Formats: sequence, structure tokens, C-alpha cells
Amino acid sequence: MTKVKHATIVGVDLGGTSLRALVVDSNNKVLGVEKDPTNAAQKPGGLIRDMAAVVERAIKTAGLKRADIAAVSVGAPGAADPEKGIIHKAPNLGWIEVPLAAELKKLLGLPVFVENDVSAGVIGEHALGAGEGTSELVGIFVGTGIGGGIITGGKLNGGSTGAAGELGHTVVLADGPVCSCGHRGCAEALASRWAMERDVRAAIKSGQKSIVLTLMEETNRTRMTSSIIAKALKKGDKVMTDVFSRSQYYLGILVANAVNSLDPERVVIGGGIAARLGEEYVQPARATAYEYFLRQADTERVEIRCGVLGDNANALGAVVTARKKLDQS
Ligand SMILES: [Zn+2]
Repeated sequence: MTKVKHATIVGVDLGGTSLRALVVDSNNKVLGVEKDPTNAAQKPGGLIRDMAAVVERAIKTAGLKRADIAAVSVGAPGAADPEKGIIHKAPNLGWIEVPLAAELKKLLGLPVFVENDVSAGVIGEHALGAGEGTSELVGIFVGTGIGGGIITGGKLNGGSTGAAGELGHTVVLADGPVCSCGHRGCAEALASRWAMERDVRAAIKSGQKSIVLTLMEETNRTRMTSSIIAKALKKGDKVMTDVFSRSQYYLGILVANAVNSLDPERVVIGGGIAARLGEEYVQPARATAYEYFLRQADTERVEIRCGVLGDNANALGAVVTARKKLDQS
């Protein structure tokens, strides 16, 4: 048991745009980081080989050998089964029933654990970041979509089937825009990065002037990334500013709904936009959330904080879950 507690673990974030591997020691110090772009166009086997390669590189960067590593733990998108190490469905990768843990184990010869990426991110912020010290926490991660996680009694609360925490599909505007889930008016359809991109493109199409598309061309981006958003805001782009503040408003309503129904001590806003813009992003959402708090006294008590682990949140959370599993085994 003692040996396991001092284990060095590789955390992997299988993101839609990049693969990131972190070698983390027993004090949760990051010894090595490597990343590669995610090539989601290939079959699952190819992407799993890419993951193995980035893990090997990270181990080398950390100055270690495979034998020094106790386990690899992956934060993966979509519906993950952490018990079986299977990804049931990950639409953005085109994955259905992929035995990720078993396949990666074959390539690396190390134990492999799997966790949903957003769950891992929330676990990471709870254990090592902006949620530290709380036992009742809500995590909301805004990226291409909006994911969430609920910590109850210090542990991730999966609900009755493990599906709890889909906060992004909280309806915040009945009959609003169509969401990725097919319903209308979800927070994801109003406050996520793809919702912002949709609104920016529509505004430009209707004749409004904006530098966003030029910024994307200059940096060879096909999507409106967090860095494009940050640059456009810095230059005072009116379309971006309007779309961004609308997204903050709906994020605030989402936070208030979560607080009113779950009564947490703290809410952590994570994901790429929060990592890049920090308080500039969180503060207006916090102000809106406070307006919609059912119990106004909660404005003194419930903290709404920006995540602090940035792009490492998912991989670090994956490491935390792996350590727990190793300790239990
Ligand atoms: Zn939805």
C-alpha cells in the first residue's frame, strides 16, 4: 500500500483538439508534459496509438522509464464506463463501444484507468485546485460544449446511473436555439464556445463588422478558439463583446440554477475560456448568478471561482482518480 501511495502516474487528457500527457509524482508535482494535436479523423486504434506515443514521450521528458510508472489514467470525452474502461459513446471522436483501457494497456504494458473528461476536470479542481477544501462543490466547464460535475460529501456524485452533472443541458431559455442534444435553449446552446461562434458568424453574415474571421485566418484556425475570443475582446471588437456578454449572462443563470437546486459551498468555472480570461470571464456571470439566487444570503456564502488548473485540470483529475483506485486495490 505504501508503495502505491508514492506512485508516479501519467494523466492523459484526450481532448477534441489536443492530446496531453502529464507525468505526476506522489506529491502531485508535474514532472513532464507532452502534447500532440488530436487526429480524430482516424479510426480509434490510430488515436489510441497516438495516445501511447505521447505518454511514452512524456515519461521520457520527465526523465523516467516505463517501469517507474504505476498507471496511466485517461480523461476521455463522452459516456465513459470507469469500471470497465470502455467509452460507450464519444460523438466528437466518432467512437462507439471502444475498450480504451484494454487497448492502451496492450500498447503500454501498464494499468490503464478511464474517466469522463469533465468528471476528471471537476475532480482535479476539487482535489488540487479552486475547489480544494470543499465537500459540496459544483464544477461547470465551458469549452466547445458545457460539461459539469457535482461533488457531494467530497465525492463525485454520479446520480443513479452515473449520468449526473449534465449541467450544460439545463434549459435557460425555453424555445431558445437548438442545442447539440436536439433540444432547445440549453445553456450549451447559449453560452458555449460553439454557441458564441454561431452567433458571431451570424452577426457577420448580417453585415456587422468584426475582426474575428480575420483573426482566425491569420492564425490558421477553422474554429473560434479561446485565444481568438481573447484577442477579439482585447481589440474591442463590438460583435465579439456583445456575443461574449450574452454568453456570460446565460452562464450566470446556469450557475444560479445549480446553486438553487444543489446548495453547494462553491462553484468552480473551468475550461479553456476561464483559463484564458479568468475574472474578466467569471465576474459578469457571478453578478448575474447573484441576481437569480433564491436565497440572497447565499451571495455572502457561496463562492463562484475561476478554475486554477487550466489546461491540466482533466489530466490531473485523472491522476487523482487513478491514485484512489490503486489505493483501494
Ligand atoms: Zn442540450
